[in-house]
Amino acid sequence: MDKPLIYDVDLPNLLGILQSWGEPTFRAQQIWKGIYQSLWQKPEEFTNIPKALRDKLGTHFSFNHLRSVTASNSTDGETQKILFELPDGRWIETVRMQYAKRRTLCISTQSGCAMGCTFCATGQMGFGRNLSSGEIVEQVLYYARKLATEGDRVSNIVLMGMGEPFHNYENVMAAIARLNHPQGMNMGARRFTISTVGLVPAIRRFTQENSQVNLAVSLHAADDDLRASMLPVNKRYPIADLMSALRDYAETTRRRITFEWALIQGVNDTPEQAGKLADLLPGLLTHVNVIPLNPTEGFKGQATSRDRARQFQAILESRGIPCTIRVRRGIDIQAGCGQLASHQNPGSSNQ
Ligand code: SAH
Ligand code: SF4
Repeated sequence: MDKPLIYDVDLPNLLGILQSWGEPTFRAQQIWKGIYQSLWQKPEEFTNIPKALRDKLGTHFSFNHLRSVTASNSTDGETQKILFELPDGRWIETVRMQYAKRRTLCISTQSGCAMGCTFCATGQMGFGRNLSSGEIVEQVLYYARKLATEGDRVSNIVLMGMGEPFHNYENVMAAIARLNHPQGMNMGARRFTISTVGLVPAIRRFTQENSQVNLAVSLHAADDDLRASMLPVNKRYPIADLMSALRDYAETTRRRITFEWALIQGVNDTPEQAGKLADLLPGLLTHVNVIPLNPTEGFKGQATSRDRARQFQAILESRGIPCTIRVRRGIDIQAGCGQLASHQNPGSSNQ
């Protein structure tokens, strides 16, 4: 059987384990620092603790669940995608984006996804399994170590890789808490963005956390018929319910909500949809990110032209809604939004 992953353990639990081994409690802090500040990845590297304890750590815990299978770099050098294999043979993908001073990681929360959005490669492959909190954390540690060798560090984390973060709520929140821990990596909550397809009960739960983690919502259509044809989840949580949960979120947290909208030629890029979207948003502090659709194998729709994207943006802006047209980064290596899915992925429920 696999050893438990050390990154699945939070600091109080680590303390308890060390106490049960008869170790002084300060050893927990030393190990924690070794993992999250020194970014050590093997027990042997923990030279701040006695050798016997290093050996014991190595006997009881795994320090590595992610095995990198392939790495691809975009031609502009700004995006890198890594395909990782997990110990049970499932696969996930993680993307690193480099833009000006930003070092943004796009991390996965599940292998595959159960939400079935028609235009999304991960949705097309079906659900594999939830990642543990430690497997989510390890994606960040992997790149943090890499960047450290270049004298650099991770600046932002977006939970926009494979999977629906709110369908794996506990593990996602535990992973963020671990990365946010002041004695560890100490990454401020505002540097994280959770993107959700719109699971209403989870949005309500997240509201209660009153967290500074940013929230992005994948809307993509402004009426129920169209949205349900693209995002099956809309049948369960229609737009009115979603907007009501988001209004409560905004009222409680006073935080801005980002809406995501993949523009598909002739489908959701019309002036009519832009108008309906603007009708949904009055009184909300929002930002709309539109991105021309990234091509995926299982979906026939085409990306919107630049002109139509600009027209869509202009309609929103004329109604006082800030809107950014996002650049399609990394699409030459299938690392763009919604393109993540390894082609021979054994995590897919379709195989
Ligand atoms: N499950 C979450 C986060 C992962 S998907 C969610 O759906 O929000 C990250 C973003 O990529 C979402 O906004 C999603 O709608 C978008 N996306 C999926 N497929 C896409 C595609 N083919 N082109 C552009 N964006 C896409
Ligand atoms: Fe899942 Fe998000 Fe893809 Fe929809 S867009 S299938 S929720 S990963």
